[in-house]
Amino acid sequence: MNEPLITVSHLGVTFDDASGDLEAIDDISFSLHDQEFLCVLGPSGSGKSTLLRVLAGLLAPSTGEVRFHGQNRIPKVGLVFQHANLMPWRTAIENIKLPLELAGESEETIKAESEAMIDLVGLKDFSLSYPDDLSGGMAQRIAIARALVQKPDILLLDEPFGALDALTRERMGTELLRIWQSTHTAVVMVTHSIPEALLLSDRVLVLSARPGRVILDMPVTLPRPRQEQIRYSTEFIDLERTLRESIQL
Ligand code: ADP
Ligand code: MG
Repeated sequence: MNEPLITVSHLGVTFDDASGDLEAIDDISFSLHDQEFLCVLGPSGSGKSTLLRVLAGLLAPSTGEVRFHGQNRIPKVGLVFQHANLMPWRTAIENIKLPLELAGESEETIKAESEAMIDLVGLKDFSLSYPDDLSGGMAQRIAIARALVQKPDILLLDEPFGALDALTRERMGTELLRIWQSTHTAVVMVTHSIPEALLLSDRVLVLSARPGRVILDMPVTLPRPRQEQIRYSTEFIDLERTLRESIQL
């Protein structure tokens, strides 16, 4: 196999605050390949967000290291959190344009790329809507478009559908699958949903309770392209059981 996009080796993060040292993650190692979709599952407080912050270059490791293409360099990342955090005074399309404007791209590029992205997430008809007029699921799709518009090396998603109702969440899973199938950006996504992780990912990493350690690194061997109905296959159900048994959510 070719060189991984990201190699995480013996990563540890310890926070020292007023009450003393708090070990958030300990000795985490894994790699992420080009175009790979990795999901991270684990109980609350197991250091999932901490791991994403290290991958994004927002937090320095206390021990171990993260390498990008084998080098000590920080990749270009797109980040999406539980809440879309759109700017309320900008329309949907203007929100997507923002990273390109900040990067100083030409007006032509900004227009073309942002229009392609809003089309990709299926919200072309809502270009001129303001965030307050979008549903939670739509707002998250705009946030995903905004994260992808700069063509990041990796897309980092931290419980992106955690605030949505169950049915919208399922639809968003299918929607993200479709988007990923057309861009093939490498993804690391934190989720609490086992079926969501199985539908989407090539591999699932399960973290233990704090300090977060890898207790399972499981390839998701389901064939692609995947459709919603894959949930009913015996292979899916078997993997679901393996994950459920490994985890203490
Ligand atoms: P998760 O996303 O899995 O719920 P987090 O990565 O947010 O977990 O947090 C892991 C642990 O690290 C928690 O106990 C949390 O309170 C602690 N923690 C996270 N960020 C900080 C920080 N900046 N300072 C001190 N402790 C922190
Ligand atoms: Mg978190």
